[in-house]
Amino acid sequence: MKKHNFNAGPCILPRVAIENTAKAVLELDGIGMSILEISHRSKEFQAVMDEAVALFKEILNIPEGYQVLFLGGGASLQFCMIPFNMLNKKAAYLETGVWAKKAIKEAKLFGEVAVIGSSSDKNFTYIPKGWTIPADADYFHITTNNTIYGTEIREDFNSPVPLIADMSSDILSRPIDVSRYAMIYGGAQKNAGPAGVTFIIVREDVLGKVERAIPTMLDYRTHIKEGSMFNTPPCISIFTMKETLKWVKEMGGVKKMEEMDKAKAKLLYDAIDNSKMFVGTAEKDARSIMNICFVMKEQYKDKEDAFMDFAKSKGMVGIKGHRSVGGFRASTYNALPIESVQALVDCMAEFEKANA
Ligand SMILES: *Cc1c(COP(=O)(O)O)cnc(C)c1O
Repeated sequence: MKKHNFNAGPCILPRVAIENTAKAVLELDGIGMSILEISHRSKEFQAVMDEAVALFKEILNIPEGYQVLFLGGGASLQFCMIPFNMLNKKAAYLETGVWAKKAIKEAKLFGEVAVIGSSSDKNFTYIPKGWTIPADADYFHITTNNTIYGTEIREDFNSPVPLIADMSSDILSRPIDVSRYAMIYGGAQKNAGPAGVTFIIVREDVLGKVERAIPTMLDYRTHIKEGSMFNTPPCISIFTMKETLKWVKEMGGVKKMEEMDKAKAKLLYDAIDNSKMFVGTAEKDARSIMNICFVMKEQYKDKEDAFMDFAKSKGMVGIKGHRSVGGFRASTYNALPIESVQALVDCMAEFEKANA
């Protein structure tokens, strides 16, 4: 049966990226060897890395003065690398979910952390407003898409201090004004590629301003100097990310992705809003177009397990909500076809008809 892959991460990837990876695993471009067994310092792999960086810069319209890195360690390693490299005395954070909390926890190891806005009082169902960024902060950190709660910041803030964004789960879902940010980072496995590679876009002038000694591997300047090859990079993950970027470009770039992602999100949110049985968990003005979270209304709560089984029988995969929200979460990342969203909507309607 056809599977509809709503996994939150690692996520569905474009079929062509997977096919091209499969080919490169067998043999890379007629060189008689697999991508898995060549040196990261070979000209063949260097070409893969160069193309990945060039595509990322082109697709996101990254201006001069920014460096692109592809490293290991996940977005989670960035939670400590950022303050290690950039926090002198004080940093400001917006607390919009579990990932933001984890970033805050690490920053506290290095200095004072001002949490200038938080939505923890309502289980992170909204994006806090009305905060002010302290002018004496070394940087301001945000999480643009809260993967677990389905809330999203879809604007590029104006910040008087360097703005840093975790865009793990919404990079490549809209055009961004990179010049507003000092740094953008994320794990590729949510919307940009497979697990194993972390993308980092960093403006060089924000580095080198802390007094403390930084271990070589944790210093961004090391990786900039060595073109992400200070040590062995996650070669195969970078290859698949490059193939995913090629697909994004061929499809029409991030503007096209946004159009498609918005259409998918509208289809599902409309179904939720018109349903007797289901209800969305995030406040409407904060709704993510990447992760769509919903539960059953109070009077139908006892039917959640039955719906899960029914959805499974119809080929739905990965729609269980995160344990801290419950219910359901459909991740509608770039590579997910709208047909899969339609299949989920049909499945919800059929279940509702039989049970409400
Ligand atoms: C998944 C996720 C992370 C953690 O990413 P890893 O690459 O697994 O460390 C961080 N931030 C956000 C927003 C995420 O969705």
